[in-house]
Amino acid sequence: MINRIFVSVILISIALSAYCQSEQEKIQQLETQRQIDKQRKIVVKMDSAIRLSEEGQYEAADEKFKVVLKTIRSVPTDLTYHFGRNSFLIGKYKQSVDWLNKYIQLKGTSGQFSEAAMDWLHKAEVELLKEREVEAKRASEVLSKDFNIDCGPTGKVVCTICRGTTVIVKKNYFGENYATCPYCHRLGYLTCEEYNLLIKGQLSRESN
Ligand SMILES: [Zn+2]
Repeated sequence: MINRIFVSVILISIALSAYCQSEQEKIQQLETQRQIDKQRKIVVKMDSAIRLSEEGQYEAADEKFKVVLKTIRSVPTDLTYHFGRNSFLIGKYKQSVDWLNKYIQLKGTSGQFSEAAMDWLHKAEVELLKEREVEAKRASEVLSKDFNIDCGPTGKVVCTICRGTTVIVKKNYFGENYATCPYCHRLGYLTCEEYNLLIKGQLSRESN
C-alpha cells in the first residue's frame, strides 16, 4: 500500500515537472517572439526615418530617429550615419559632428557610408565653427542693460510700458481691452531705480 502511494507520488511529480518544463519553454518561446517583434518594429521605424530624411522631411525624420534611439539599447552603426547626416540638415551641427564621428570611428574608411560621412562631417565642422564665432562675438557685445543708467536731475522717466498714459490697450478678438499699467503705480512715470530694474527685466508687476 505504502509502496503504491510512493510510486504514484513519484509518477505525479515526474508529470508535474514535465508539465512545468513545457510551460517554461512556452514562456521562453513567447519571450523570444516578443523580442523579435520588438526588433522588427524598430527596424521598420528606422527605415521610415531614413526614408523621411531622404525625402527632405528632416524635422519629421529627426523626431522618428529620436523615438528609435529611445527604444533601443545599442545603436546600429548605420543609424549613427543617418542620424548624423539628418542632424546637419536641420542645423544641429554639434549633434551632427558627434554622430558622424561615431560612424567613422566604428567603420573607418571602409564602411558603406564612410565617404559620405566624412563629407557631411567636414561640412558640419565648418558650420559649427561659424556658429562658435557668432557666439563669441555675441558674448563680447556691450549692452546697455548691463549698466545702471543715470536718469538725470528729475530722477524720473516716462513709463516705457504705457508711454505715460497709465493705461495699456490690448487688442483681442472682441475689440480693445483697457487695463491699468502694472508697472508705474498709476503715475505714468518710473523712478530711476524702477527704470533700471525694468530694462534688466527685473521690475515686478503690480498685481491688481
Ligand atoms: Zn506705466
